[in-house]
Amino acid sequence: MSRKEVLVVEDERDIADLLALHLKDFDCDVTVASDGHEAMRLGLARDWDLVILDLRLPGPDGLTICRALRRESRYVPILMLTAKSTELDRVVGLETGADDYLAKPFGIPELQARVKALLRRVEALAGEAAADRPDEKLIRDGLTIEVERRQVWVDGREVQLTAREFDLLLFFARHPGRVFNRGQLLDQVWGYNHDGYQHTVNSHINRLRAKVEQDPAQPRFILTVWGIGYKFAESRNLT
Ligand code: CA
Repeated sequence: MSRKEVLVVEDERDIADLLALHLKDFDCDVTVASDGHEAMRLGLARDWDLVILDLRLPGPDGLTICRALRRESRYVPILMLTAKSTELDRVVGLETGADDYLAKPFGIPELQARVKALLRRVEALAGEAAADRPDEKLIRDGLTIEVERRQVWVDGREVQLTAREFDLLLFFARHPGRVFNRGQLLDQVWGYNHDGYQHTVNSHINRLRAKVEQDPAQPRFILTVWGIGYKFAESRNLT
């Protein structure tokens, strides 16, 4: 893994120092922004590999900065920090565009696990971009997706999906480990003409699981993230 450029946006000095200390274990070069204005300037000035973003800041807050970063064409993983778990519940309900969330105070192993997963995603995306071809074939453990032919095999057995089920599966498989809430899935997979009913997502996921999962009650590909939404399993979670 090459060295990673990480922007830490945190106005509390001791927490910023703690983050910087532990990020160095991951071969990261850390830059700290201690208020929202500095974060906006630095955040948009460079191509970061990871941004760790505190929600409450002097100047523009974490939500504003997150949205600004998401308007950029290049995707950057964002880990958002919140002051307490009640605030976390509120924030994940908003469509912030953050990839993951952590409530303060957090344990170091928890922080390390989040950072590791997000940095692994950066590597995976880089590999995917390099391998982006029209005859694209995605292979995730026992699942094979032939993108152009819109065909799907699970453990060597072809499964028949509707157009929407296929789009949903492809979207998930292209973003392993990333958590999406139902609103984000409606926007990304159904597009802007969706009916806005989140139960539409649930029912499609149930039908998709019935087709691609051996045991839909214990899915290995499309996992439920309680209180937030769904994610596609990362390789280490596949059994
Ligand atoms: Ca703060």
